[in-house]
Amino acid sequence: MTERTERTEPAAAPERAVEGRVVVVGAALLRDGRLLAARRSAPPELAGRWELPGGKVEPGEAPEAALVRELREELGVDAEPDERIPGEWPLKAPYVLRVWTARLPAGSAEPEPLQDHDELRWLAPAEIWDVDWLDQDVPAVREAAARLG
Ligand code: C5P
Repeated sequence: MTERTERTEPAAAPERAVEGRVVVVGAALLRDGRLLAARRSAPPELAGRWELPGGKVEPGEAPEAALVRELREELGVDAEPDERIPGEWPLKAPYVLRVWTARLPAGSAEPEPLQDHDELRWLAPAEIWDVDWLDQDVPAVREAAARLG
C-alpha cells in the first residue's frame, strides 16, 4: 500500500483575508471605450464621491465571485470579470482594494444604481477626471483608464 504523501506546504491563505487584510473588490466595468463610475450615496463621509462599484469579499468567497455578486446587488447586472489590474491599494484597515476589469455580456440589462449609489456615469477617456473619485480609487482608475485605449 502506498503511503499518502503528507502535505507539508501551508494551506493556501483564504483569498478574502491575506495576512490580516480583508479584500474589497472593485470593478472597472468597461463598455464601448468607456468606464463606469458610481456615485456613493452613503455613508455621509463618502456620499457624493465616485468609485468603482464593488464591496467586501465574504468569508469563503472567491474575489471574482464577490465582484459578480456585488455588481448584481448594486447595479442589477451580471458582469463578467476580465483581468485583474495588478496592485493592491490600502483602504481603512484591515481593508485593501483589488480591482478587476469587467464587461457586460451582449444583451445585458443597463446598470442601475440600486444600492449604495445614486448616480452612474459611463465616462469616455476625456471625462475620466471630471468626477470626484474616492482618493483610494484613483490609482486603480488611472490603470483602468489606460486600458480604454
Ligand atoms: O461597498 P462596501 O461598503 O462593501 O465597501 C467596503 C469598503 O470599501 C467601504 O469602506 C468603501 O468605502 C470601500 N470601497 C472603496 N472603493 C471601492 C469600493 C469600496 O474604497 N471602489
